[in-house]
Amino acid sequence: MAVLPTLTGRSRGAGAAGPLRAALLGVLSGLLSMAVAAVSPPLPVVPAATTHREPAATHARIQHCWDGGPMVWLTFDDGGSPAQVRRILRVLAAEHVRAIFFPIGAWAAANPGLISQIGAAGHAIGNHTHDHVDLTKVTERRALWQIRHGDTHARGSVNLLRPPFGDGAYSARLRSLAERTGHRLCTWTVDTRDWTGSPAATIVRRVRYGDAITPPVRAGGVVIMHMNGDHTGAALPGVIAAVRARGLTLHGLP
Ligand SMILES: [Zn+2]
Repeated sequence: MAVLPTLTGRSRGAGAAGPLRAALLGVLSGLLSMAVAAVSPPLPVVPAATTHREPAATHARIQHCWDGGPMVWLTFDDGGSPAQVRRILRVLAAEHVRAIFFPIGAWAAANPGLISQIGAAGHAIGNHTHDHVDLTKVTERRALWQIRHGDTHARGSVNLLRPPFGDGAYSARLRSLAERTGHRLCTWTVDTRDWTGSPAATIVRRVRYGDAITPPVRAGGVVIMHMNGDHTGAALPGVIAAVRARGLTLHGLP
């Protein structure tokens, strides 16, 4: 939108050159069409049953954490202080919203009380590796160890694996690692970027309207947040209201 007035202004200024400009434009457009003709290959003939379809479907399933329904998931990654986690749990309980937590295994091991509170409250607990390594940058042996030690075995555990940073989530290597450890890869559709310290109002706005980086929440969407975001707890009531304001339903507590 911002580009349009600038371009209009420029072409008005160039209009003063008159016939010379017209001649130049003619030459330019001739050259351009020649270039396009030279560069554009003939359109490939794609058979009806294309192999492109399956990866696209798998990508969508991973993004939606294998939940094909219209309801929206809120997810909370990594770990946080007892105050941060309890605040998130309080809001979720008050709003009767069920979330998926993806704690780092090392954090879960150090916070058994919080992990059992999360499970006892009725939330799901997935795997986010033992200490948040980029699974695409370690050996296969180390990656398998990281995933196996990312399982908390706590009440509420589900077999979803969220790779740290989302890295490699759609790669054959991670798909193989996930299968061998009994997991399903799970990423997200809405990136709140709460971990950057964004103010609560910004987090809420991203969920409701999206921005240059993330689309807004839609049916079946998965919203990523972090237990240790500076303003995540403060934003949470607004995030829940934003999802509902779009006419969408969040997963409810059992
Ligand atoms: Zn993380």
